[in-house]
Amino acid sequence: MTSLQGKVALVTGASRGLGEGVARALAKAGAGVMLVSRSGEASAAVAREIAGAGGRAEAMGCDVADYAGVERAVSAARQRFGRLDILVNNAGVIEPIAELVSSDPAAWADSIRINLIGAYNAVRAVLPGMVEAGGGTIVNVSSGAAYRPLEGWSAYCSGKAGLAMMTRAIVLETPDRGLRVFGFSPGTIDTDMQVKIRASGVNMISQIPRENLTPVEHAVRGLVYLCDGAAADDLIGQDVALRDEAFRKRIGL
Ligand code: NAP
Repeated sequence: MTSLQGKVALVTGASRGLGEGVARALAKAGAGVMLVSRSGEASAAVAREIAGAGGRAEAMGCDVADYAGVERAVSAARQRFGRLDILVNNAGVIEPIAELVSSDPAAWADSIRINLIGAYNAVRAVLPGMVEAGGGTIVNVSSGAAYRPLEGWSAYCSGKAGLAMMTRAIVLETPDRGLRVFGFSPGTIDTDMQVKIRASGVNMISQIPRENLTPVEHAVRGLVYLCDGAAADDLIGQDVALRDEAFRKRIGL
């Protein structure tokens, strides 16, 4: 039995890709899971499969850029499962892929609204309850793009860089509250996001052949490790990278 038995997690961006994988893995380990994405039906389909396999899962349509919607999802999770212990702040978009000089200002702002403000919204909505409960785990899904500019990705890189700083800000402001806060960079994983990146042909990431991408299951394993109990506590506050050799060893990769 893992320490996830009986815990409850909110996973954003859970309709596909990394979020879907993490939601399934957390449920399998015994956690109740609230899955959210803009497409409520796609998340609901995953939740039904989890429930069909004996897990506890609910789903809601929710745009993380809309604070009121995020609050509703957090309330629904607490109402349905009676508690909320874990936030997997995973929802994200790669668009717009465009050089800054010709980028669409509205699309650029939308990217920040999802990748940075959306992540803030989720943290802001769960944090008071976690502080009151005396603990909780937050994993902000980060990226190497937080630290390295890539051509055509000015919005994505800026949003992820802001998110990495927000992870540090939460840690700074909430010492001794029992909170476990991490960033987690999954590396280049084989999801729909990489399909869009390959199709763009822009920058070196788009040139990585699909067979060289990291399997989603490896990133899921790393993320669940951070959520599960005290084994990862020495990594609290860090932006943990799946490609880090010492971390890979810890999770058996
Ligand atoms: P993905 O396959 O495109 O899935 C993205 C998920 O986020 C979907 O469930 C999507 O559902 C949801 N989403 C997007 N915008 C949303 C919004 N405004 N509100 C709620 N949900 C939203 O991408 P992925 O590769 O799994 O990426 C997951 C996370 O890993 C992202 O934060 C991404 O930046 C990060 N990451 C990925 C890679 C990679 O190589 N794939 C590398 C580094 C970091 P809807 O469209 O239905 O909303």
